[in-house]
Amino acid sequence: MKEKRYVIIGAGMAGILAGIKLLERGEKNFVILEKTGALGGTWRDNRYPGLTCDVPAHAYTYSFAPNPEWSSYYCGGAEIRRYFEKVAADYGVMPYIRFNSEVTSSVYDEANATWTVSVADGSVHEVDIVIAASGVLHHPKMPNIPGLESFKGHAFHSARWDDSAPLDGSRIGIVGCGSTGIQILTALTGRAKQIVALQRSPQWVMPVPQFDYSEEEREAFRRDPKLIDEIRYNKDYWAAIIRFTEGITNIDGPEMAEIEELCRQHLEDSIKDPVLREKLRPNYRAACKRLIYSWCYYDHVQKPNVYVETGSIDRVEPDGVRMKDGTFHPLDVLVLATGFHADRFIRPASVIGRGGKTLDDAWAVRPTAYYAMALPEFPNFFLLNGPTGPVGNFSLIDIAEAQWGYIVQLIDRLKDGNARAVEPTTDAMAEYEERRIAAAKKTIFGSGCTSWYLDDTGVPASWPWSYQNFVDSMAKPNFEDYRFAA
Ligand code: NAP
Repeated sequence: MKEKRYVIIGAGMAGILAGIKLLERGEKNFVILEKTGALGGTWRDNRYPGLTCDVPAHAYTYSFAPNPEWSSYYCGGAEIRRYFEKVAADYGVMPYIRFNSEVTSSVYDEANATWTVSVADGSVHEVDIVIAASGVLHHPKMPNIPGLESFKGHAFHSARWDDSAPLDGSRIGIVGCGSTGIQILTALTGRAKQIVALQRSPQWVMPVPQFDYSEEEREAFRRDPKLIDEIRYNKDYWAAIIRFTEGITNIDGPEMAEIEELCRQHLEDSIKDPVLREKLRPNYRAACKRLIYSWCYYDHVQKPNVYVETGSIDRVEPDGVRMKDGTFHPLDVLVLATGFHADRFIRPASVIGRGGKTLDDAWAVRPTAYYAMALPEFPNFFLLNGPTGPVGNFSLIDIAEAQWGYIVQLIDRLKDGNARAVEPTTDAMAEYEERRIAAAKKTIFGSGCTSWYLDDTGVPASWPWSYQNFVDSMAKPNFEDYRFAA
């Protein structure tokens, strides 16, 4: 039987995973097309001070590549990027990556059951299977604030950090207080002269532990990887994950009540000044926006050189930010931690499937995919961490690994020679979408706040069921829900 040819789009966490898994299966006929000159995806793009993964490091690790070297419980971005570089090298993936190869289009040829994937440099790859691993949060969302271009200091998006911006002794404004803005603030209070946190809506903060691993501990991890497993699969950590996904889906149940109480108590106990406390108190339910996990935000936001501005921004002026009430904040640096266009995925690359169907057509209402991985009329085109995929604050690595385990079972059906192409049926997709939307509206994400989880119609675009449901769904495809073409 003919060997399958693959294009993997993106050399971030999920693309590297797909490459490793193909090599593990003895499949070498693939390339990983990476638009930039380096691997690492979000951990390459984001370099802001304080960048930390809010999943414990030993859990934010490929299951097959434990890392005894993690320096702390929650690890910084540079360390995570180095981990992916090392794993890609150790597992032999590097020779398969084509850097500076931005995919511009993928077009399906039904007669031959092939995809023609074109790259900006003019090169073309004809393959049987496309794995889109292009990430979720990689199109920076710039705020539409009048006068932004007139600012004389340094203004830039958090994911496009300007290394020439002076931080020490500077007056720094931070627009946005999502996971990113909060991490930047905590990293800069010790360096800036003054920080103005321009907060449109406050966030609930879940207190978490943070500690360094000692050299003795790392040595013990090197000698006995079972010690790492004890952290990765720690029963309290997993119980918390399960509780969290239970809470998300059963918003009036005891799990969510417990999460809300923890966040509320953290606010009450930590913030001494009642005025600041009220500024930081959200008027929506905990975990409606993606919950902030932090061990130090409330300490830093109370430092004397931090001011939380809750008024509305009127405009940016050459020397700072003017609020609607006339207040002026003079600034040297303006960081725009304003999030991402979470609905783009592989776009702006064009994807044209069977019968000329475009991805833009398929996603005219909202981006979605059957169990987050495949689409009718786009045969042999699979997404890792695609739309509707994220499961709570759960590690995207484990999600991608589970999705790969599912996708590969479909690919195996193509390899047995009876079919050349596979896609979900339109009926299965419609049924999934109806069920998903109904469940999503009832999750905590749909309980009355704005966030990047919501699509343009206000429906949360993350996994709307329990963690166990995710595990069960990924275990084996329901093959009747797929159309296999000979
Ligand atoms: P985000 O959660 O979308 O937050 C954007 C922030 O900018 C919000 O506070 C938003 O206010 C504010 N904002 C947007 N436009 C604005 C405007 N025009 N004027 C004033 N404020 C504006 O983005 P993010 O913080 O970059 O985080 C995105 C996601 O990245 C996270 O939820 C997480 O999934 C991931 N992330 C993860 C980690 C990690 O530790 N693993 C770290 C960083 C990021 P409103 O709330 O009022 O809209």
